[in-house]
Amino acid sequence: MYNISLITGDGIGPELSESVVTVLNTINDKLDLKFSIKELQAGDIALKNTGKALPDETLDAIKSSDVCLKAPVGESAADVIVVLRRMLDLYANIRPAKSYPHMPALHDDIDMVIVRENTEDLYTGKEFAVDGAGVALRIISEDASKRIAKYAFETSKQRGQKNKVTCVHKSNVMRLTDGIFSKACKEVAQDYPGISFEEMYVDACAMNLIRQPQSFDVIVTTNLFGDILSDESSQVVGGLGMAPAANIGDKFALFEPVHGAAFDIAGKQIANPSSFILSVKMMLDWLSQKHNDAKCSEVASKLESTVHDVVKSGIKTKDIGGDKTTKEFTNEIVSRLV
Ligand code: ATP
Repeated sequence: MYNISLITGDGIGPELSESVVTVLNTINDKLDLKFSIKELQAGDIALKNTGKALPDETLDAIKSSDVCLKAPVGESAADVIVVLRRMLDLYANIRPAKSYPHMPALHDDIDMVIVRENTEDLYTGKEFAVDGAGVALRIISEDASKRIAKYAFETSKQRGQKNKVTCVHKSNVMRLTDGIFSKACKEVAQDYPGISFEEMYVDACAMNLIRQPQSFDVIVTTNLFGDILSDESSQVVGGLGMAPAANIGDKFALFEPVHGAAFDIAGKQIANPSSFILSVKMMLDWLSQKHNDAKCSEVASKLESTVHDVVKSGIKTKDIGGDKTTKEFTNEIVSRLV
């Protein structure tokens, strides 16, 4: 039995959470993998109800669970996810971009992962007003850079596909900070002779993600660049509705869609739940590794192939060219999960 904490979020968060609870309950009932789910508040709704975007009760419940699922939160996102990433030391943000069939996408043969450093860079929120200007601290340390580089090489090794890591930075302009990142990645590369290593400036990478995304295997990059490039890579394979993410540390992990609360489509039952369902797939893979539980990995593969088969058969939500509601799409997934 795995104890899952679930932040139900804002905007389309509650609709996506309902979908994921349906999927988990089906796995629980039909595939004999047991979960207990604790639904929690965080984000705009929690701020309104309790005065805190991340209430203590939510934080305590997350800490005592085995793993956390987080639906998108709204305007207070920085006070929730950025805090959780740092507090729980979830240093690796993993964002796969994979082609699914019949997507409104630029390419249909992509299978890559962005490994984004999750604790440093401009996201530490250290900003000051100085003489009428705003100043932000960009912190890049050798330790954190080496740690994420190692994670990226291990990811490439485990995938066993193109065996390639691309280190993305802008060290020709940010000589000290990105110089440290580049040097750390180069040093770690020495320990992985079986994996080819290349460096790319972030502007060139943004271009190549559109021009030849098939050439990438694993991209390792700093926090802000990773945030931007992963939105781009998800669009290249069909949009944010298909984009899952993982925030991983040595002891704990949190899984969430790449996208935000999407208030423009909230409450309309048109959101694509695949981003969150595929985040559950990533969660099952992580639980499998952590607990040496083959059943989790078996169900993870089944869940992913079910999403693949459902969209292949033309059952899709509006964002990817279909007409199904969030609930109809979810029901199709669970009906095939036997
Ligand atoms: P944030 O800055 O918090 O990441 P954002 O306002 O930039 O959020 P998102 O919420 O990430 O934007 O999404 C951008 C747009 O993509 C949304 O306005 C919505 O139209 C679309 N979108 C995002 N997620 C989904 C989804 N799961 N299903 C369908 N459309 C989506």
